[in-house]
Amino acid sequence: MSLTLAARQRLNDGREVPRLGLGVYRAAPGGEARAAVRWALEAGYRHLDTASAYGNERDVGDGLRDSGLAREEVYVTTKLWNSDQGYEQALRACRQSLKELGLGYVDLYLIHWPIEELRRDSWRALVQLQKDGLCRSIGVSNFMAPHLEQLSQTSDVVPAVNQVEMHPFLAQRELRGHCAREGIAIEAYSPLVKGRRFDHPVVAAVARRCGRSPAQVLLRWALEQGVVAIPKSVRHERIQENAAVFDFELAEEDLRALDGLDADLHTAWNPTAIP
Ligand code: NDP
Repeated sequence: MSLTLAARQRLNDGREVPRLGLGVYRAAPGGEARAAVRWALEAGYRHLDTASAYGNERDVGDGLRDSGLAREEVYVTTKLWNSDQGYEQALRACRQSLKELGLGYVDLYLIHWPIEELRRDSWRALVQLQKDGLCRSIGVSNFMAPHLEQLSQTSDVVPAVNQVEMHPFLAQRELRGHCAREGIAIEAYSPLVKGRRFDHPVVAAVARRCGRSPAQVLLRWALEQGVVAIPKSVRHERIQENAAVFDFELAEEDLRALDGLDADLHTAWNPTAIP
């Protein structure tokens, strides 16, 4: 059993990202997000996923400082929001995010959404920001294969990461194949299906067979697909529970059962229609 909470995935720029991270979408600023970050770091997480759109970058930075861990020990991702896309705007937005976080650099900066008219200019800005040392790695989010192909025609820099919704009900097999061929790592967002499928008969049955919670089964599935997973919780015991997924494996029959659930279920937005 090789996977551990310390496991990392190598990116195409030579850097490494921890396989499990804490997501903080809808973790409220002003205390909730800060406490969640502190608990996660106490539980051994070393990867935090925020975005300027979440309004809690400051809390994430504060939670990191509360932990007493050195900056280099924790992997921090934030994202460029839609209204900040474009070359100059993106350069400014990244600096603003760093100010909010109270950090000198982020480990990963992502274009949050593939805005048709602006994403190429935004990407040029991310390339510049990486050269300037403000982002260690750069990537995209919610980019489908056509968006990635278009980007590759205008830039030599391949995104290190594509963060997309992924769970057994939206397995993203084709996109994963495309990204594997291009050397782009996948990060699975909403890996718990936002808590909406814990009582699905197949998920519940696998959980019973493993003696684990449905959340742990869904996270284990994601990790066994070879992707990075960033479950969100603001509850101390759930943050711990979601990290306790490295001491069991899914049996072949359970993996097959979960693999059979793919149903193109988007719980958030659906980027497939974006030209
Ligand atoms: P998740 O699939 O991670 O589910 C989160 C929900 O599940 C919350 O309601 C949480 O409630 C609940 N939950 C967490 N752990 C457990 C548990 N062990 N048992 C029962 N319920 C649990 O959804 P998200 O959409 O938040 O995705 C995760 C992260 O991915 C986000 O926080 C964000 O960082 C990122 N993301 C990125 C997007 C993008 O466009 N790039 C879009 C959406 C998400 P509670 O907090 O009360 O525990």
